[in-house]
Amino acid sequence: MNEAKIPAPEAPANPPDFIRKRIREDVAKNKNHGRVITRFPPEPNGYLHIGHAKAINLNFGIAREYQGACHLRLDDTNPEKEEQEYIDAIREDVRWLGFDWGGHLYHASDYYDRFYTYAVELIEKGLAYVCHLSPDAIREYRGTLTTPGKNSPFRQRPADENRALFERMRRGEFKEGECVLRAKIDMEHPNINMRDPAIYRIKHAAHPRTGDKWCIYPMYDFAHCISDALENITHSLCTLEFEDHRPLYDWVLDNITIPCHPQQIEFARLELTHTLLSKRKLLQLVQEGIVNGWDDPRLPTIRGLRRRGYTPEAIGAFCRAIGVDKTNSVIDIGTLEYHLREDLNRRAQRVMAVLHPLKVVIVNYPDNQAETFSAENNPEDPASGTRPVPFAKTLYIEQEDFQESPPKGYFRLAPGREVRLKHAYYITCQAVIKDEATGEIKEIHCTYDPGSRGGSTPDGRRVKGTLHWVAAEHALDAEVRLYSHLFTRPDPNQAPAGQDFRSALNPQSLVTLPACKVEPSLRVAMAGDRFQFMRHGYFCVDPDTTPARLVFNRTATLRDTWAKMMQKGQGQPE
Ligand code: ATP
Ligand code: MG
Repeated sequence: MNEAKIPAPEAPANPPDFIRKRIREDVAKNKNHGRVITRFPPEPNGYLHIGHAKAINLNFGIAREYQGACHLRLDDTNPEKEEQEYIDAIREDVRWLGFDWGGHLYHASDYYDRFYTYAVELIEKGLAYVCHLSPDAIREYRGTLTTPGKNSPFRQRPADENRALFERMRRGEFKEGECVLRAKIDMEHPNINMRDPAIYRIKHAAHPRTGDKWCIYPMYDFAHCISDALENITHSLCTLEFEDHRPLYDWVLDNITIPCHPQQIEFARLELTHTLLSKRKLLQLVQEGIVNGWDDPRLPTIRGLRRRGYTPEAIGAFCRAIGVDKTNSVIDIGTLEYHLREDLNRRAQRVMAVLHPLKVVIVNYPDNQAETFSAENNPEDPASGTRPVPFAKTLYIEQEDFQESPPKGYFRLAPGREVRLKHAYYITCQAVIKDEATGEIKEIHCTYDPGSRGGSTPDGRRVKGTLHWVAAEHALDAEVRLYSHLFTRPDPNQAPAGQDFRSALNPQSLVTLPACKVEPSLRVAMAGDRFQFMRHGYFCVDPDTTPARLVFNRTATLRDTWAKMMQKGQGQPE
């Protein structure tokens, strides 16, 4: 007999967080017939960032664990700030993160007719009214946390009159700000959100999807709960700032005729050090040209992280590790980089790249001898195989791997000193050739020990330094972009008086090295490919690469050098 293959549920995050515990209880009680339907509801007014990745991993992750569904809903109820460009990018970014909405792509704007009908229902029940107070007066009437609000003079209008006025609002007979539709709840409610909140406002603006059909648009608190209910969402997960809006979420659904009432559950939003997770501020960085577009590798946008060389797996591991919590906290950006390194260490091929080249001539190496060494692609992955690395008489090593007068504890190349060239031979420095006029070091002359092929000698003598290198005639030219934190201060918003987050910008956040030399196996590298440059860190091929010139982005250093330098009080690393 053929059995249908049912995929095993993915193991939930361990131990289960408070949201998963709650969902597990609901499923055990057969609430919603045991179904779990979540949603991710971005407003298409910017690009997604790592904070959204937390919400995406949570919502889509839970749906996957329960073989439920997660809807992607574009919350497009503000016609002015939303653009198709953002909608397309959101879809692409969610997919790149490894999730699929499986046909459940919705737009809040699809529900405009329904929202309108529900608003009319509230009016007819005497639970909503058209108010002509000015925005300032509405604010004043609302009261404060410690003082109750006052009733609007328009609050007692009969339902028929409200209905007629709301219809006139819809027909465009009023100017923006002239009136709003408000829910009639309680102006003395201890929760300010319940003091007759506006649920519809006038905006004479065309909408990307509904065009000129509407000039009144629903407010978030009215549209969101109804959208959730129309889609039969079971658990509506949102960030903590909506906790005080939950009574309104429930009030709307309790007072209209709708069969579904999702459970809103709030969790802490992600905050990271040395960066910003506010769409408005990210937009400012892009618009003011402080960074080079939404995919600048220094930005915490999904595009930026992707171009920087992050993998969806590393982002997923980070999200699982930080979990979800009920209290806001700030996560060190080093935690994100830790999960990145863990992932790249497993997947990245090792190669040799010289970022600051210094020429070395092996004087006793035969002029036209050619040989190649076999180098392991990734010692962490035995299946990754080996590649040939050509050797020749003239090589490049790093400038910092040679010192004419080495300090104590320096084990690399120096006059008379012997070191190992990775995968190749032992070499000894015999002479330093300088430019006569400037005194600058032009090249180093070394001898090699033909008996040390492959990195060990017959007499078993040892050296302390092992250097990476590339053969000059085979090396490829490359530009390497070294990225570092965009902001020097952990909290960029904590600025001195009169300044803002821009005062925390790190002038070293991008250092471009235009004349690097990389090993020839990289000839076939394609945009997005990831490598470990031995002794330097993780790098990936940037889309700016052309057949004539490779461009690499530094994804991460091998270790958290920033934290180390800061601890030692040495200022910031390169
Ligand atoms: P911003 O305040 O920067 O505009 P937002 O919260 O308004 O961000 P939305 O597009 O409304 O952005 O967010 C879509 C979903 O992603 C929401 O459910 C929101 O709670 C969640 N989200 C946004 N930022 C974060 C964050 N930093 N951490 C966790 N979840 C987030
Ligand atoms: Mg929002």
